[in-house]
Amino acid sequence: MALSLYNTLSRRKEPFAPIDAANVRMYVCGPTVYDFAHIGNARPVIVFDVLYRLLRHIYGADHVTYVRNITDVDDKINARALRDFPGLPLNDAIARVTEKTASQFHSDVKALGCLEPTHEPRATDNIAQMIAIITTLVAKSHAYRTAGEVLFDTASMPEYGRLSRRNLDEQQAGARVVVDAHKKNPGDFVLWKLSSADEPGWESPWGRGRPGWHIECSAMSERYLGPVFDIHGGGLDLIFPHHENEIAQSRCAHGTDVMANVWMHNGFLEVEGQKMSKSLGNFVTINELLATEKFGGRRWPGEVLRLAMLMTHYRQPIDWTVRTLASAKRELESYACKISGKELDWFRLAVDRGDTPPPSPELVEALADDINTPAALTLLRKHAKAADSDWKAARLLLADSSYLGVLSDDTIFAHLSGGLAGNISSDLVLTTNNEIELLRVAILNRDSRGVNAISNTLFEKGLRIRGHARGHILLEQLSVPEDGQIVTLIAARLAARKAKNFKESDRIRDELTAMGIALKDSKDPVTGEIVTTWEVAR
Ligand code: AMP
Ligand code: ZN
Repeated sequence: MALSLYNTLSRRKEPFAPIDAANVRMYVCGPTVYDFAHIGNARPVIVFDVLYRLLRHIYGADHVTYVRNITDVDDKINARALRDFPGLPLNDAIARVTEKTASQFHSDVKALGCLEPTHEPRATDNIAQMIAIITTLVAKSHAYRTAGEVLFDTASMPEYGRLSRRNLDEQQAGARVVVDAHKKNPGDFVLWKLSSADEPGWESPWGRGRPGWHIECSAMSERYLGPVFDIHGGGLDLIFPHHENEIAQSRCAHGTDVMANVWMHNGFLEVEGQKMSKSLGNFVTINELLATEKFGGRRWPGEVLRLAMLMTHYRQPIDWTVRTLASAKRELESYACKISGKELDWFRLAVDRGDTPPPSPELVEALADDINTPAALTLLRKHAKAADSDWKAARLLLADSSYLGVLSDDTIFAHLSGGLAGNISSDLVLTTNNEIELLRVAILNRDSRGVNAISNTLFEKGLRIRGHARGHILLEQLSVPEDGQIVTLIAARLAARKAKNFKESDRIRDELTAMGIALKDSKDPVTGEIVTTWEVAR
């Protein structure tokens, strides 16, 4: 399989060749845990999850190591801890903030269908590694002490600026760089800074202090992936200064030509042309979408957000709208209907055994072309179209949508019965929520009388149970013919009987049976005439 990836270092798409095919290594910068993650933060998590799945497919699940860190040392965290837990000692307050935020992040990204990375190191567990790298940098004269800080000397590295393609002069002229008198060069950045007694700190050769942000990733990537690894990823905003500085630290400390061979960056999720960000205040948290009805008056399942993201190639900007979510939701519902409607029994068997089929070669090929998810989704739509007449296409649709993480054994039934409801009107689903719950319990308890009773109630509401798996229930809305049409047919049948045309009257009865209508003939006790009543057949 020829995998090619766009490399920010060369600004080109290149064939990917791992350093060691038995252990393909990828590092992605993770969240700074001081607040809920927004859906812009979700983008790199989803994009690199797709790449992780692809690498596992190509090289084998046991031959890929994916590291995504948690930044739990940061001055933003300290500020949040002081604000939210003013009564607590600072370290305890910090622990509260980081634990709560990290666990929220985990449940958010799980709902987005992301696999867990192989390792998820925390900065606070890797302080000794950071101190070791800084010590080496000082010893090699790439770093110096000044005014309570240890700074990286950017002028000591000739290739500094290679990734972001900035030269030192541009950095000096850059408006964002504050010229501090204590720095040798304006672009020199903090490796270690001293902490006051009321700030978090660790003992070090330079006194009690805390690390800068960039050194965290140099330390954690080296610990789990070695000094040189295959892929390093994150959002576009990390190219400078974060990734540039990671490269400077790691290469100068380890004496290597590169830190990672391939540098990959996702484009921004934007709102009206501006990057979604905490500082601009134009953000929507993942949790708000999943758990509140603030947007479009409804909650949005994680896989809907995931599909909406994958509609755009990862290097392009995404313009954020609820309309895109709605169209992703419709698309998933239609896939769920086609898959379950086509081969329910086969599907249920597959679900119960937990073995979804492997992705199609066409899907893998689309993704291997620099994670071309729009092409992958075009393929899903092709499968969906063919699924109406071809169960194999329905099966491919299931395989490929599961592989992309937008539908799974666990969620497919939810799209039909858990409020998303496929072709069932959402009003109807609301009025049957209670029965659905009772039905789940009855199924769980193998209470067949209970199941029968509830299925009768549902039937009266025009719903038939088509199947169930893992607590999900697939309902089908019965299409009941118009009363007028039934009455006309019954009148025609009575007329045929009167004319002794029994062949025709039987034909009409069969036609009604096929429509799900059962007839009952009785004699009117007063007039003695035949009266026909009807009901929906069970
Ligand atoms: P942060 O917590 O700001 O360091 O961001 C965590 C990750 O999310 C980084 O990889 C960022 O590049 C990425 N990111 C932040 N905002 C956006 C956005 N609006 N669109 C896409 N990626 C983003
Ligand atoms: Zn990083």
